[in-house]
Amino acid sequence: MSSDGLILFGGSFDPVHCGHIQMAQFAMSYLNVNRLIMIPAARSPHKITLPTATGQDRLEMIRLAIRGIAGLEVSDIELKRAQPSYTYDTIVAFREQTGFDAALYWLVGADSIADLPYWYRIVELLDKCQLCIMYRAGYERPSLKTLQHKFRPDQIDALERHIIPTPLVDISSTVVRKRIAAGLAGNDIVCPDVLEYIIKNRLYH
Ligand code: ATP
Repeated sequence: MSSDGLILFGGSFDPVHCGHIQMAQFAMSYLNVNRLIMIPAARSPHKITLPTATGQDRLEMIRLAIRGIAGLEVSDIELKRAQPSYTYDTIVAFREQTGFDAALYWLVGADSIADLPYWYRIVELLDKCQLCIMYRAGYERPSLKTLQHKFRPDQIDALERHIIPTPLVDISSTVVRKRIAAGLAGNDIVCPDVLEYIIKNRLYH
């Protein structure tokens, strides 16, 4: 039986790709949680470039990608807020809804480890939710060595216990955008309805 916890999965989703959906489903099963909310950022504080597609298009593509998949939802909370989109603020907002006893998780891929020490209010963030680091193709197995100077030992322990050994799916939004521009994207990297939306709205050309 699944728990009543909640998983939050933030990102640019520019566009959402098959790797995102596979990671989301794997994390739900691994953490035994039956609800996951995908949260497109208006602008990530960790990326130097702005998303290519508008927030509305990215939101719509997530809606299409998760249609019919049990447990997956999308929220526009960060699109409605001032930029940049601080994860801390999003977690505070969801914490108010869930209360302090509910399990609340935030997913990130292993590529985010290097940036973590620079996240806005990261030490407090780790006390408000459980950050879960997922394996990612092309990146080392998550190692917390570089984070030890920044976080308390109990926070490091909790992070270690919540590394999620997701399958390695070598897809990124960058590759999707490049393949679309070259007319080469297929349903192996982006779901059919999303691809149709991209073509119809001439995104990433
Ligand atoms: P871009 O190529 O534009 O940087 P991206 O593919 O990394 O995009 P994001 O929307 O930035 O996609 O990712 C949201 C979150 O999902 C991040 O924490 C990222 O690490 C994670 N993620 C994205 N793709 C994968 C993947 N294939 N495997 C594991 N984690 C992933």
